[in-house]
Amino acid sequence: MTLTDPVSALTYIGAEALIDDESRELRAAVRDFVDRRVRPHIAGWYEDGRLPARELARELGELGVLGMHLEGYGCAGTSATAYGLACFELEAGDSGLRSLVSVQGSLAMYAIWRFGSEEQKQQWLPRMAVGEAIGCFGLTEPDFGSDPAGMRTRARRDGDDWLLNGVKMWITNGSIADVAVVWARTDEGVRGFLVPAGTPGFSAPEITRKQSLRASVTSELVLDDVRLPADALLPDAVGLSGPLSCLNEARFGIVFGALGAAHDCLETTIGYARSRQIFDRPLAAYQATQLKLADMGLELGKGMLLALHLGALKDAGTLDHRQVSLGKLNSVREAIAIARECRAILGAAGITLDYPVIRHAANLESVLTYEGTSEVHQLIIGQVLTGHAAFRG
Ligand SMILES: Cc1cc2nc3c(=O)[nH]c(=O)nc-3n(C[C@H](O)[C@H](O)[C@H](O)COP(=O)(O)OP(=O)(O)OC[C@H]3O[C@@H](n4cnc5c(N)ncnc54)[C@H](O)[C@@H]3O)c2cc1C
Repeated sequence: MTLTDPVSALTYIGAEALIDDESRELRAAVRDFVDRRVRPHIAGWYEDGRLPARELARELGELGVLGMHLEGYGCAGTSATAYGLACFELEAGDSGLRSLVSVQGSLAMYAIWRFGSEEQKQQWLPRMAVGEAIGCFGLTEPDFGSDPAGMRTRARRDGDDWLLNGVKMWITNGSIADVAVVWARTDEGVRGFLVPAGTPGFSAPEITRKQSLRASVTSELVLDDVRLPADALLPDAVGLSGPLSCLNEARFGIVFGALGAAHDCLETTIGYARSRQIFDRPLAAYQATQLKLADMGLELGKGMLLALHLGALKDAGTLDHRQVSLGKLNSVREAIAIARECRAILGAAGITLDYPVIRHAANLESVLTYEGTSEVHQLIIGQVLTGHAAFRG
């Protein structure tokens, strides 16, 4: 039997050659943060169904990852690829941690940065970049997820004010947010509003009994005659293209993030299989095990090459949102397949939180559903390939 030092799937495929020094340094800083602040505690947080989000947000702000790919207003202004690699490391810790950062930076901050007035940007972005203020993004409703065009939440003018009524569902960070970006139907089409926590008529009850993303806050947003001043409206977003462009930012982070979870599963499983003795030999030394590990390593490597390619396009300013669908679909679909296969290789040990694998597998069920389900991304890709939109059958 020959034994050589193992090489990780991403080193093996040569992904490092496509990453610049700045991104590498940022990635190392995020990895160190996750090792120090998250890995020792995450199984307990997950089991308890909580995340010390306020505390972590401050620390993530100090680390410079909140809104890190945005320019100005205290944001770091990094490359999109560096942001993607940060998402990879955060989600290697837990998808809930990456969700906190994605929603803060790519959904809430991006919406204000891209569509807000100068006053709104000055009021919220610097505080959000340091993690002093937390944001959430309310688009989904109980009856409208994949088809947000059907939303019922309504904003109507009342003198100079706006009156908002409706319910949003499955909103990450909802109960802990200082400001909610809420999308509502108006006579001029879908518009975005900034709703500060504590506004009369606004509440954000937490959704409990989740079996996925347990270390993440998920909430309803209830708007019952919420009165907002005229300047709560995001002036530069009219129509669904506004919120959809924010989703596209967050999806880009998931392209990398889901691979982080898969990488953590695979590395854990290879380590386990090398030390686990079965019929007097290491589990990793059996051909049947190696066939599985080889396929997973290959998919992880291919996924990373696609992610880095999309990152390079985004940094060059040429990324089309329909190309992000390729990455979101591929990364999450492969990551969940890897997590499930790894869980099986761990045997009974794989069902406990002593190993991160079942936690990642359960988390990825949410990641598969949010930011466009797999079917929605398949339909986007199908439309590109055929010219026919098949969303309505
Ligand atoms: C943990 C978590 C956090 C979330 N955070 C947020 C958040 O912060 N903000 C927010 O606005 N939303 C958030 N969401 C909501 C998420 O974006 C929606 O769940 C998602 O868009 C899917 O909507 P739905 O759950 O209503 O499923 P549905 O739209 O009801 O879909 C049900 C099934 O039908 C399939 N389907 C849909 N359309 C078609 C079609 N044309 N053809 C074939 N099949 C189809 C879907 O793929 C899916 O399998 C979150 C969800 C979760 C689970």
